[in-house]
Amino acid sequence: MFRQKQQFKPQTNKISLSPSEIGKPLLNDFCPRCFWFTKKFPIKDKHPFSSPMAGILSITDKYVKDVVKWHVQVLNQLPTWILNQLQNFYPHLDFENIRLIRPTSWRVSLFDGTCLLSGQADEIIEFSDGSLFIIDYKTAALTEYQTKLRPLYEAQLNAYAYLANKKLGKPVVGLALVYFDPEYKDLKDEVMLHRTKEKFLFGFNPTVVPVKLMDNEWVEDLCQTLFEILSLNSPPEGRSNCEGCNLLQDWLNKISNYLL
Ligand code: SF4
Repeated sequence: MFRQKQQFKPQTNKISLSPSEIGKPLLNDFCPRCFWFTKKFPIKDKHPFSSPMAGILSITDKYVKDVVKWHVQVLNQLPTWILNQLQNFYPHLDFENIRLIRPTSWRVSLFDGTCLLSGQADEIIEFSDGSLFIIDYKTAALTEYQTKLRPLYEAQLNAYAYLANKKLGKPVVGLALVYFDPEYKDLKDEVMLHRTKEKFLFGFNPTVVPVKLMDNEWVEDLCQTLFEILSLNSPPEGRSNCEGCNLLQDWLNKISNYLL
């Protein structure tokens, strides 16, 4: 799956992997060298060149989860904007008789305890027969770029299914992404803009995208690929057509004279 010459040697320290990263080898531009560097030497949030991140995405994420929870707990059903789409894609599943399982951070040891896969799903639905359905929410427009990232998200959801299966011992029968695509595109949409006369409103279009359920072995194979990269004592080779490492080296050489 990647070019590398070094021998891999398992380390004594445990290697941690998260569901959001195990699909990286599936992306066309995956670079094992980049992955090795960024995992071994993570840049903390508050590095000298960082700029503050807007909290809108985490607020949206919490709002969506709270809305769904409120509908299920108080009105005893999923909100229509998600229910109808799920029923359309999965007519054999009974989304009218469900309960939500409180998402928990799960952790599973792999490869004789040398690797940990841990993460927390956005939404876990349990049907009356005990089987599960897992959803991940994405606040993003369904652009071409998002389509390129789809393998990453598919692996993420399958990793949650893997964790749920190992931790709860219940079968997962389906997975879905729910995109929240901002309604506002441009000033031509006057009908939508008129409703902002009295109050500032900003809406999203929820779109359900079904995700193929893979077996546990598929998830473990992805983890194994990343585990082997991170077990190397020196960085593997980078992508053959990428000049980024050379540019970075030049930049470091230039600024090194000015650093303390
Ligand atoms: S080859 Fe490119 S993608 Fe890989 S580590 Fe270097 S800069 Fe990053």
